[in-house]
Amino acid sequence: MLRSAKSVPSDLVYYFGENSFHLGNFKQSVDWLNKYIQLKGTTGQFSALAVERLKSAEEGLMKEKVVESQQARQVLSQDYDIDCGPTGKVTCPVCKGSTVIIKKGYVSDTYKTCPYCNKLGYLQCEDYNLLLKGQLEPSTTNP
Ligand SMILES: [Zn+2]
Repeated sequence: MLRSAKSVPSDLVYYFGENSFHLGNFKQSVDWLNKYIQLKGTTGQFSALAVERLKSAEEGLMKEKVVESQQARQVLSQDYDIDCGPTGKVTCPVCKGSTVIIKKGYVSDTYKTCPYCNKLGYLQCEDYNLLLKGQLEPSTTNP
């Protein structure tokens, strides 16, 4: 039915936006409705409805973001510990296991020993959790 994006009638764009909204897909709904308003301005058959629906969709999207950031905060909160599995070790996320941190410079790159994993490339679970909470102090014994 739809040969290409260009051939989609603008009314359909509005219906897609409306439909996405009812499916709870607010992000997509916002995209479609913006597209409709772009195409039709404020004089289209559904312009008033689209503007109104866009407001609701954006509110829905906002609420989703609030929930997401609350979840993220929960994960990173002080009393949440990540389970590192039976080995109790995690690849160092700072150097990605390479034990070296490369700093891109204008002339040349600078190589520095990773101050977090002590040349091991991995962290003990305890240290890993500290790092995630921003409480792991980098080692100062590096040259
Ligand atoms: Zn490291």
